[in-house]
Amino acid sequence: MAGSFPVTADPSAPEPQAEFVVDLDAITQNVRTLRGYAGDGALMAVVKADGYNHGAVAVSRAAIAGGARELGVTTVAEALELRKAGIDVPILCWLNTADADFAAAIRADVEIGVSSVKHVAAVAAAAKAVGAPATVAVKVDTGLNRNGASQQEYPLVLDALADLSSSLRLRGIFSHLALADSPQHPMNDTQRQRFVDAVAAAKANGLVPEVVHLANSAATVTRQDLHFDMVRPGIAIYGLSPIPELGTFGLVPAMTVSARVALVKAVAAGEGVSYGHEWIAPRDTTVALLPVGYADGIPRALGGRFDVLLGGARRPSIGRVCMDQLVVDLGPDGAGVQEGDRAVLFGTGANGEATAQEWADTLGTIHYEVVTGMRGRTVRRYVGGNGSQ
Ligand SMILES: *Cc1c(COP(=O)(O)O)cnc(C)c1O
Repeated sequence: MAGSFPVTADPSAPEPQAEFVVDLDAITQNVRTLRGYAGDGALMAVVKADGYNHGAVAVSRAAIAGGARELGVTTVAEALELRKAGIDVPILCWLNTADADFAAAIRADVEIGVSSVKHVAAVAAAAKAVGAPATVAVKVDTGLNRNGASQQEYPLVLDALADLSSSLRLRGIFSHLALADSPQHPMNDTQRQRFVDAVAAAKANGLVPEVVHLANSAATVTRQDLHFDMVRPGIAIYGLSPIPELGTFGLVPAMTVSARVALVKAVAAGEGVSYGHEWIAPRDTTVALLPVGYADGIPRALGGRFDVLLGGARRPSIGRVCMDQLVVDLGPDGAGVQEGDRAVLFGTGANGEATAQEWADTLGTIHYEVVTGMRGRTVRRYVGGNGSQ
């Protein structure tokens, strides 16, 4: 694997003003940890949405190094990006409109998730056009009522698969849980039973899948009875706890966001800081300006409600978060902070910095949204991954 990770930063380039570092060794380690929960079952690493914004190609390689056997994404385009990078493990894509480029998926040996008769017909037509059978997985709705074949549609999907078996190879049957983050909720048992029934119905129709799977991150770490042949964790491979109230499950967050101080200045008592002057200096003080804002994924709603780790301690955000910048209070003596110093916005928490979870709690959202939100001028940089950076 050495040398196989993309180098995203030119070492001779100046240090970026803001960056989010992705620790690929943490990803590899998290996958190993999750395989411990999975026992004999296989693990599909979910790398949709550009690997939850951690970088799908690099994350995939790190996950495979940790023992992930398969990869899961939403669209054909996401799957093709991985194939283009030379990743050759099984890849399943499960969220496409019926006019998606299934021919390209078939040519690239990408497994296609189907949720309706229309999907089945479109994939079969693409297989005929390509002149090679398509590999498909049926997604059955067992109670999430989102993607997946409904209880009414499912038997029709099975009939269509049987009719078109010369063009389609059924490899998988899968479903997705609605309440896995409440492990004891009876809906998990209901979905399990419906899933078992759906797999039995396929077998009764002569459709025998190689692999059936149901468990997301939360079910991977709490409900062995929902594991079936393979677990399908996403958020946990990035080190974020799928059920924060129950602890970390031994996972280590992979993303650390930081920005360098662009300016340090004195602000006199009674002066307001940032648009709207929502914060008024209660005493003479010193502030630091960080060149990141809501265009970079720092939610405006966090203004005045978070701290950064800077100069060895947490420094509070003051006033509004702007499009390009935000301000933190260093206190009267400035705490020795210099222009160019690096402030950590969130990371593992190991050095006292905030975590994505802390931001999510403040915002009333989930850490999934925090990490997928980083963008704009924050530059992604990889560390780890066999030292190939
Ligand atoms: C996103 C997704 C997952 C992963 O969910 P996490 O909560 O991140 O573990 C698994 N399966 C399907 C179908 C998904 O859409």
